[in-house]
Amino acid sequence: MPATARGIASAVRSGDVSAVDVVAAALRRVEAGDAAIGSFLRTYADTALERAGRVDAAVAEGRDPGPLAGVPVGLKDVLTTEGIETTCGSRILEGWQPPYDATVVQRLRDAGAVDVGKTNCDEFAMGSSNENSAYRPVANPHDRSRVPGGSSGGSAAAVAAGFVPVALGSDTGGSIRQPASLCGTVGMKPTYGRVSRYGLVAFASSLDQIGPFALDVADAALVYDVIAGHDPMDATSIPHPVEPVTGGLDRGLDGLTLGVVEELSSGAGFEAEVLDRFRAALAEAERAGARVVDVSLPSTAYALSAYYLIAPAECSSNLARFDGVRYGLRVGADDVEAMNRATRAAGFGPEVKRRVMLGTYALSAGYYDAYYGQAQRVRTLVIDDFAAAYERADVLVSPTSPTVAFALGERTQDPIAMYLSDVCTIPSNLAGHPAISIWCGDGAAGLPVGLHLMAPALAEPLLFQAAAGFEAVLGTKAAAV
Ligand code: GLN
Repeated sequence: MPATARGIASAVRSGDVSAVDVVAAALRRVEAGDAAIGSFLRTYADTALERAGRVDAAVAEGRDPGPLAGVPVGLKDVLTTEGIETTCGSRILEGWQPPYDATVVQRLRDAGAVDVGKTNCDEFAMGSSNENSAYRPVANPHDRSRVPGGSSGGSAAAVAAGFVPVALGSDTGGSIRQPASLCGTVGMKPTYGRVSRYGLVAFASSLDQIGPFALDVADAALVYDVIAGHDPMDATSIPHPVEPVTGGLDRGLDGLTLGVVEELSSGAGFEAEVLDRFRAALAEAERAGARVVDVSLPSTAYALSAYYLIAPAECSSNLARFDGVRYGLRVGADDVEAMNRATRAAGFGPEVKRRVMLGTYALSAGYYDAYYGQAQRVRTLVIDDFAAAYERADVLVSPTSPTVAFALGERTQDPIAMYLSDVCTIPSNLAGHPAISIWCGDGAAGLPVGLHLMAPALAEPLLFQAAAGFEAVLGTKAAAV
């Protein structure tokens, strides 16, 4: 049975393999192996097998089953699925069954993909290690004593473990790319507005994007082409037609100028093995015909701080809807206000509470300009820095994260150390630009290192071309199980 999404789709489309067999095999892998990993919060075998049966029926009747025919998919549990519990990794939404499907879920199904379950994540996508999940931590499939990264840790681990060939995550500050890096998979964040956020439970609405995980660039590209595009249900969705990326993957690195971002590829926090792999990847790229130049994004020195004002500010407002009235958990009390308070106190975990308090403070009348306003100005400076850098380079590069996967428990008492894990990925969210993480080799202990590629808004075809070019010289990391 083929392992890649494109291999599965082509075998199912030609009738060589049945979608039901492919999906049943994926469910068996989860059943056998996920107790030790924790990548799925729940699977729904009956629904998935029924949907797979419909894909097989389409093939039998000569109808087009779609470009992802029979491909098993994991969905981060921040994406709504009609009638299927969606918790966002939080107790406050335990048991909540959304009344509608996210647009990306609908698009995947229309393309013949079969979602088999909801993947574990940090509560409301806030975190970098998946340890903020209210349900259970996720183990990195390449070393179970280590974190998979976060917040889309379950999606990254499910792909890295070989349970499903592709999964969706969400990325507000790095939550697709950082776990992809720590798990040795590909993880891609599209341009803000390129993929519909309808049905993505909002964390920070001006930063959130949905994107794919896969074991190689071609599979990520296939999923991107299916989920990208305008959606009238999301007011921030970009109306431009989508330029498919799958056709341009073999154009290579020859003639491309790669800009090494000085501020995102040096400094005290970067592990030597990460920088070694990064430099080795650049040397390979030069041999493959790329030109490498140094560029500077000086304002990124303030990007992390700006993010930790903007994201909590938006989260404090978005999470106000979880009040014990409309969704999930309700803790009874004598009056409405006491009920709100008791519900939120019991339903939210400590990191979510920290963000809501920080965000409320940053938005409060007396401090708005000093914090939120200032952070928005930094955001503009970051965008200007990127524009200047793209005058000199086609694609910007850095490591994805300063370190390889760290030990479970290592950073839970130190929020700043946890936040620093996203120092390289956050600037692309502030600018709204697309970016991707691919594997660029293993460090000393056999743990994966990620290479981060960034491109201007809507330059996904170029981004995927460069990523595929790197992958052609660097290879891919095989699934762990
Ligand atoms: N780790 C970052 C945070 O905790 C990014 C999260 C994300 O991208 N969803 O906010």
